[in-house]
Amino acid sequence: MNRNEILSSLKTNPEVSALIVGAGINGIGTYRDLTLNGVDTLLIDRADFCSGASAASSHMAHGGIRYLENGEFRLVREAVLERNRMIQNAPHIVSPLPTTIPMFKYFSGLFNAPLKFLGMLTKPSERGAVIIKLGLIMYDAYTGKTRTVPRHQFMFRNESLRRWPKLNPNIATTAVYYDGLISNPERLALEIALDAEAESPNARMLNYFNLAGAEKDSVILKDELTGESYTVRPKLLINATGPWIDVANRKMGISSRYIAGTKGSHVVVDHPELRAATGSNEFFFENKDGRIMWICPLYDRVLIGTSDIKIEDPDEIHCTDEEVEYFLELVTQVFPSIKVTKEHIIFHFTGVRPLGSSGAARTTGQYSRDHHIEELSGEQTKLSFPVYSLVGGKWTSYRAFSEQVTDKVLAFLGKSRQKDTTNLPIGGGRGYSTDANEQKRQIDGFAAWTGLDKERLQVLYSRYGTRAEAVATFINRSADEPLKFLPDFTRREIIFLVQHEKVMRLDDLLLRRTMLAMLGRLSKEIVQELADVLGDCMGWDAKRKNAEVLYTFDLLSDRHGVRL
Ligand SMILES: Cc1cc2nc3c(=O)[nH]c(=O)nc-3n(C[C@H](O)[C@H](O)[C@H](O)COP(=O)(O)OP(=O)(O)OC[C@H]3O[C@@H](n4cnc5c(N)ncnc54)[C@H](O)[C@@H]3O)c2cc1C
Repeated sequence: MNRNEILSSLKTNPEVSALIVGAGINGIGTYRDLTLNGVDTLLIDRADFCSGASAASSHMAHGGIRYLENGEFRLVREAVLERNRMIQNAPHIVSPLPTTIPMFKYFSGLFNAPLKFLGMLTKPSERGAVIIKLGLIMYDAYTGKTRTVPRHQFMFRNESLRRWPKLNPNIATTAVYYDGLISNPERLALEIALDAEAESPNARMLNYFNLAGAEKDSVILKDELTGESYTVRPKLLINATGPWIDVANRKMGISSRYIAGTKGSHVVVDHPELRAATGSNEFFFENKDGRIMWICPLYDRVLIGTSDIKIEDPDEIHCTDEEVEYFLELVTQVFPSIKVTKEHIIFHFTGVRPLGSSGAARTTGQYSRDHHIEELSGEQTKLSFPVYSLVGGKWTSYRAFSEQVTDKVLAFLGKSRQKDTTNLPIGGGRGYSTDANEQKRQIDGFAAWTGLDKERLQVLYSRYGTRAEAVATFINRSADEPLKFLPDFTRREIIFLVQHEKVMRLDDLLLRRTMLAMLGRLSKEIVQELADVLGDCMGWDAKRKNAEVLYTFDLLSDRHGVRL
């Protein structure tokens, strides 16, 4: 169903079994699992899909090695297994990421972990090689026999410096272990949602659709694009609004304090020397005060983050000058001879981790990343349906969390599970091969039956995985031409995204359906040209197009430091 069809279906029949409010990765994961299991589900987001915390992550599918010292063994084990599944189910977007830890001491931190575990140490501190070795042994053990990624290795100083000549010569040793890189989280989340829609007639999803209020058996929703209000009557409501869970509950007359969010920022730099110095490795580095940061290769750019700062209002967040200075200063501790300045920054982003508010007084880095469901029955609220709030979690463990929620919903609805998502391929990861020969064979095949040339198909394959076939088929159905200011994209490729991937606003296209903004590829002309293509698809007049362009310029400048 397209947007208009969904809207008219809501008008004729407002009953829905499950209403999921919030289309971040947890809402989307739950949507897929529920609809696969035959539950008619409506998923809504007040903004675009995957535009909240899920668009602000460090791009890592990881177990979270440092959570071991907080005693979070269950979480780490689950996340390591889920990391492996992401690499297996979405290999076009998630790939093994060698991660290097430079260490300056051997023994530091040896007594910290037990003290932290016993709640006797609240300040983070530097960890030495021995404690990191113990953590990595456990981490490898959790990977089990699957061996989706190789085991960790330690390297002495000289060998490390031979491999990374720009690394700080004061290091004592380095360790290399493996996690996963989610190169494009926004696309991965969208593809999960599109899979649900393609698989199931019970699946309906709407972006720019806001939870406005609730009363007795009804929930009031507002179309943010037209201002029109709708009423739906769910059997149960899943509050998956991440950092906004308590705000969304308040809109329904429910008072809750489930979330204690912490803000995290990242910068993306265009710095060929730093990019070359990292090679294919991420550098996972600890400051002397125990704070963590990452320097991570992302295509031909470098992603640097992140901060962890307690905040009250998830709508009032910005990447501050202090955060930027902190990041740039820490890069010099890892690669002292490489000068990175503010001028190298091409994009920045900030988000709020929707962490649970429970737990003893701790530093922000020690807040639990685990997930749980807070359930309020109809008797506890003035509503006639239960509300499940999805608190906490990590991108990496979204599938396991969604499964937990789905099992609970199925039990409530008196249904049993028919399908599970453990080994379910995602979007363009279906049939995708990481083997170069097999990729070539697939691309040759797609070229033969879609008629598009192989070079172009190679580009589409790297962007969309095996979904490239559908994109190419669509492209070749009509005359096409490269965009004037962005010639590696064509007009019909953009039209495909608009028509098949629920693009409603210009920034959906620039920030989430493509990585143009994050990789610093935008210019005034490109934004204007894409607005023209989008506007033609949407039937916008010149005034509407212009308003969209101005809004996008403001958004890019205000939220991402991109001034065109
Ligand atoms: C800085 C940072 C770095 C991180 N790094 C990693 C990492 O490397 N690896 C990892 O595994 N995890 C990481 N995480 C954690 C992970 O990103 C989050 O736990 C996860 O994305 C939370 O997803 P969510 O669906 O619960 O929330 P969100 O993605 O925030 O989704 C909530 C959605 O609800 C919508 N919404 C809000 N109010 C309403 C309303 N009234 N009506 C309708 N919709 C509404 C919002 O628009 C939003 O899209 C990181 C998080 C941050 C912030």
